[in-house]
Amino acid sequence: MKEIVHYIDGGFREGTGAELVDVNPAAPDTVLAKGRAAAEAQVDAAVAAASGAAPGWAATPFRERAAVLVRAAAHIRAHADEWGRELSLEEGKTLAEGVGEVRRAADICDYAASEADRPTGELFDSPRAGERIMVVHKPVGVAGVITPFNFPIAIPAWKIAPALTYGNAVVWKPAEVVPLLAIRFAEALAEAGLPAGVLNLLHGGADVGSRIVEHPGVNVVAFTGSTAVGRALIRRCGDLAKPVQAEMGGKNAAIVLADADLAAAAAQIVPGVFGVSGQRCTSNTRLVVEDRVADDLLAEVVRLVDGLDVGDPLDPAVRMGPLITAAARDTVGRATGEALDGGAKALAGGEPYTSGPLAEGYFVPPSVLALPGPDLPLWRREVFGPVLAAVRADGPEHALALADDSEYGLSGAIFTRDLGTALRAVDEFDVGVLHVNSNSAGADLHVPFGGEKASGFGAKEQGRAPRDFYTRTTTVYLRG
Ligand code: NAD
Repeated sequence: MKEIVHYIDGGFREGTGAELVDVNPAAPDTVLAKGRAAAEAQVDAAVAAASGAAPGWAATPFRERAAVLVRAAAHIRAHADEWGRELSLEEGKTLAEGVGEVRRAADICDYAASEADRPTGELFDSPRAGERIMVVHKPVGVAGVITPFNFPIAIPAWKIAPALTYGNAVVWKPAEVVPLLAIRFAEALAEAGLPAGVLNLLHGGADVGSRIVEHPGVNVVAFTGSTAVGRALIRRCGDLAKPVQAEMGGKNAAIVLADADLAAAAAQIVPGVFGVSGQRCTSNTRLVVEDRVADDLLAEVVRLVDGLDVGDPLDPAVRMGPLITAAARDTVGRATGEALDGGAKALAGGEPYTSGPLAEGYFVPPSVLALPGPDLPLWRREVFGPVLAAVRADGPEHALALADDSEYGLSGAIFTRDLGTALRAVDEFDVGVLHVNSNSAGADLHVPFGGEKASGFGAKEQGRAPRDFYTRTTTVYLRG
């Protein structure tokens, strides 16, 4: 049994708040780790440590800050197999996905470090002789970072690595169900020589997150999680006049038009929905398919889904592990049941597991539901599980309209051989990430990532985009 420890002012410490228990979602009787949440005084101590460390870190040359991230990346990579297994045990994604995510976190740290080699400001000519105008980017101070459960090391890395590289201190609260990978990330940065207080890790629930947001010592808030929580934080940060960046939920559509390569589309769509047990914000859980190819496409999708082995995520043959909690499992079961009651037809899955080890863990079957139209809640609500809802369209125009008719706008995909239609989707499909002939789930670390509409608020993440959030500018009119 492992211990859930906080990282405050350069030391790993026990919490003094409420009890925390970390279980294996594939076998919930197995407790992986125990500890206590951060108490209010520990949140205050973490913010004080961050505030104290921030000026020194900001004054550290960029290359030295970057070197810490490069060393952390090497440490993470060296432990990828071990930590990937721990991730898989704690979060439930497959071992390959877990190891891949840990490696991705290392790559993100390397990318953030590479910012040291790029321009850190802008230089303008002046309308006046003997003058130059320069725009200097400076750290914001202390960033409060709040992260979700589904990518327990990659999402923290893509918020925290840029925050650090641009010279900020961080107070971070991960989701309470994935404490171990958070501890590993803090360990990597501590081993890499990050000065005490520059990163502080606090475990706990909404109360700990809320105290970080409220704290006057926290200058900006970076959040990833559900739209409901994100919007509450956006409102609160508005009152506090605190810059906030929120990456939130999604209900992403993949459009398959009649001219598409159907086999290739199905081969993309299936991992795009069922990877990470459907618990990916970018999963293409809505399918809009042109009527005249719908039967063929759905038959191929179902054939591939029938081949997905569900079970212990550590088993290399398994393609889909459990959901994160019993509540998540029940939400998916309810949403699927409601859709079936509303006239949807289950082409695959649809019924919960009722006996055996899959019923004991938080497993749900991969499901494909043909919907009578776009009116059922399943079409609109994020369910955050392995359920593909399919609706038919009369033609490309109708398909685009159906896909875009969503409160969310995180990612989307279109499968077509017609370049004109693909370009039309670029203009008309209001999403932050659009894939043409690949599924909506993928995101590379060197390009901006983030959602539109109810899926995102504020600056984008990844690539160079975080600079807008983690720095503020001073415009300098410079004369000799
Ligand atoms: P969640 O919103 O329940 O929790 C996210 C984090 O917020 C957790 O650390 C939680 O403890 C904290 N929190 C909850 N209430 C809070 C409050 N009142 N004040 C401060 N902090 C609070 O989300 P989750 O279940 O962990 O993650 C799943 C959700 O995240 C899905 O909606 C998914 O789409 C979304 N997500 C979005 C992206 C993206 O980049 N857009 C990426 C991953 C996940």
